[in-house]
Amino acid sequence: MSRVPYFKATEIGERAWQIEYNFTDREHVYCYLVEGSETALVIDTMYGYGNLREFCETLTSKPLKLANTHFHFDHTAGNFDFDCCYMHHLDIPYFYDSRTSTPAEMLERAREEAFDEYKDAMEAGDFCAAHDMKVYPLYDGDELDLGDRKITVVDVGGHSPGSVVFVDPKLRIAFSGDACNGNTLLGFGNALPIETYLKNLLHFKHYQPQFDIMYGGHQVLPPVTIDEGIELCGKILAGTDDHEERPGMFGIPTVYGAKHADSGFGRADGKNFNISYDPKRLLEGGKEPRVIDFKPAAMF
Ligand SMILES: [Zn+2]
Ligand SMILES: [Zn+2]
Repeated sequence: MSRVPYFKATEIGERAWQIEYNFTDREHVYCYLVEGSETALVIDTMYGYGNLREFCETLTSKPLKLANTHFHFDHTAGNFDFDCCYMHHLDIPYFYDSRTSTPAEMLERAREEAFDEYKDAMEAGDFCAAHDMKVYPLYDGDELDLGDRKITVVDVGGHSPGSVVFVDPKLRIAFSGDACNGNTLLGFGNALPIETYLKNLLHFKHYQPQFDIMYGGHQVLPPVTIDEGIELCGKILAGTDDHEERPGMFGIPTVYGAKHADSGFGRADGKNFNISYDPKRLLEGGKEPRVIDFKPAAMF
């Protein structure tokens, strides 16, 4: 076991934990652990710093299974501490083709971010090394049976083609990944058109009576965020959104649906939901065939 306490856990419900990094305050990313009577489910794995599986084993003695909300590396880089994972079928090719960092590269980055007291104690062996792994496909409506609790898979594709939300009606929690939040990024080439995302938000809304809170990959938000997303996507399609141009990820210019407050990432009108998008990718444009061109999948 490493000398660096990479993780900390906060209990968010009966036998349910939110896990975040403890060696830095510069990575605002979460993953989750839900323990059933037979199986404990890990939802997402963050950046691969530390050994997440060993940390989860300090919280539960049940066999661990892993499911991902989507393929992005800030939610999957730690997957390789586990033998296999479950992911929406549309995100599997992107996960397979993702570029993974080596433990040496991760060590370098983690050292930059770490509190001074931990920098020297870190070593490359503390980090998750990529390897071939089995990925089992998830489909909308699947139920993950943990024994005395069942978690429903809800397709909310948009941010990535296979973004899902895991709804636990017993805990009354939706584990929402990056599917619907204050900075929902749809400006990527492989993100879905706004029209498709809006349909998926309306589908997500069917489950809204089953939860009181959305525990996401970077934010914790109230369920009304879904309604705000539906409203804003409707405005985008009607051409009546704020259409705020501003730098997005990696400094690439993008368009946000709602105007930001002058300071930080909050919305000027105080609502929770916001979205960045490509104004050329609003409508589905008819049903197009899925083309398999045998080239590696684009990351974004
Ligand atoms: Zn993401
Ligand atoms: Zn993310």
